[in-house]
Amino acid sequence: MSEVLRIQPDLEFVKELQAAGGQDLKKCYQCATCSVVCPLSPMDSSFPRKEMIWAQWGLKDKLVNDMDMWLCHKCGQCTEMCPRGAKPGELMAALRNMAYRNLVGPSFLGKWMSSARHLPKLIAIPAIIYLIVWIITGSIQGSAFPVNEHGEIVYGMIFPGDFTIDPIFGLAAVFVLYSFYAGIRNLFSAFASQPKTFVVGYRPPKNMWVSLWRVIKDEVVTHKKWKDCGDTESDQVKFKGHLVLFYAFVALFIVTSVVALTHWGGKILPLLHMEYPMPLWNPVKILGNLGAIAMVVGLVYLTRRRLTDTDKDSSSYYDWYLIGVLWAVAISGILSEVFRLLGVPGLAYPVYYIHLISVFMLIAYLPWSKLGHLVYRVAALTYARRIGRISTEVESGQNKLLVL
Ligand code: SF4
Ligand code: SF4
Repeated sequence: MSEVLRIQPDLEFVKELQAAGGQDLKKCYQCATCSVVCPLSPMDSSFPRKEMIWAQWGLKDKLVNDMDMWLCHKCGQCTEMCPRGAKPGELMAALRNMAYRNLVGPSFLGKWMSSARHLPKLIAIPAIIYLIVWIITGSIQGSAFPVNEHGEIVYGMIFPGDFTIDPIFGLAAVFVLYSFYAGIRNLFSAFASQPKTFVVGYRPPKNMWVSLWRVIKDEVVTHKKWKDCGDTESDQVKFKGHLVLFYAFVALFIVTSVVALTHWGGKILPLLHMEYPMPLWNPVKILGNLGAIAMVVGLVYLTRRRLTDTDKDSSSYYDWYLIGVLWAVAISGILSEVFRLLGVPGLAYPVYYIHLISVFMLIAYLPWSKLGHLVYRVAALTYARRIGRISTEVESGQNKLLVL
C-alpha cells in the first residue's frame, strides 16, 4: 500500500514570501524550464523548480533549510525564460531576504531591516550617538567646527578615535562577528538534512577548511560563478560591478586595518606610529582613495543595471537599502576628504557626520542586510563543495551523478 503523505502548508509564510519579492510564485506550472536553463544548478535535485513548488505548497520547513537559495546568484536567466512569468529568480532572492530577516536575532533588527517603514529608526541609532559625541566635544573645543593651530580641519577634534570612533565601531564589529558565527551555525544545522550528492570522480575536500580555501581561491577572488551566470551585456555588467566592488571592499578593509594597527600598535611600539591625517602621497592613503574610486565605479555599474534591466532582475527593498547605504558611504567619504583639503569646516564636519552614520549602517546591520550574502553564500558554497553538491558543468564537465 502506498504511503499517505500529509502536507501542512504554512499560508502565512507564503504571504511573507510574496511580500519579500516572490509575488508571482503562484503562476508556476512546473514545466522545469528554469532548472534546465540555470547555469549553476546541479543535475540532481536541481533548483529553482523545486523551490517553486515548495513555495506554492507552503512548505516552510523545506524552504528555510534549503541550501540552494545561496547557490543561486540571481543572474535572472530562469526569470527571463519562464513561460509563465513566475519569476523563479525573484523567489530565490525572496528566500534569501527571509533568511536575512530570520537567521539570527535580535528579531527586531531583522524586522527593521526588511521594510522602509523602519529606516528612520536605523538611521536614528548612529545619528543620536554621534550627535551626542559632537555636542560634548564641540563644547569642550569651544566650537562645533574647530580647526587646529595651523588652521587645518582634524576630524579627531570632534570625533576622537580613542574615545568614540574605535570603541563604538569595535563593539559593533564584535556584535556583527558573533551574529555571523551564530548565523553560520544555524545554516549548517539546517543543511544537515541536505542529501549528499557526489559527481562521479569528484573528490570532496578533506574538511571544511580545505573546502573554504577552494571556494575563496576558485570562486571568491575570481567571482567565477558570476561570470558563469551568462554572457549578455547585462550579465557582464553585473559580473564586473560585483568584482570591482569586492576589490574596493578589500582595499578599504586593508586601509582600515592599517589605520587601527598603526594607531593602537603605535601606542605600544613607537615604530608603528603614523601621523594623521595622512598626506595624500602616503601609500595607505593612495590605496584608500583607489578603493573609494573603485567603489563608485562598481556602484555605477550595479545601479545602472538595476535601473535598466528590470525584466530579468527586479529590485527589492533589500537591494535598494544596500545600494543606498553604499552610495552614502562613498559620496560622504569622498566629500569629507575634499572639504577637509579645501578647508571648509562648516561643510566638512556635517558631511563627516553623515559618513559615520552611513558606515555604522553598513557595518553594524551587516548580518541582516543583503551584504550578509558575503558570509552566508561563502559558507553555503563551502558546505556544498564538502558534500559534493556542485554544478556539474561548472566544476567538472561531467554529467553523471551518484546519489548517496
Ligand atoms: S517557474 Fe516558470 S520555468 Fe520554472 S517550473 Fe515554474 S513555470 Fe516552469
Ligand atoms: S537566478 Fe540564475 S542562478 Fe538563480 S536560479 Fe535562476 S538561473 Fe539559476
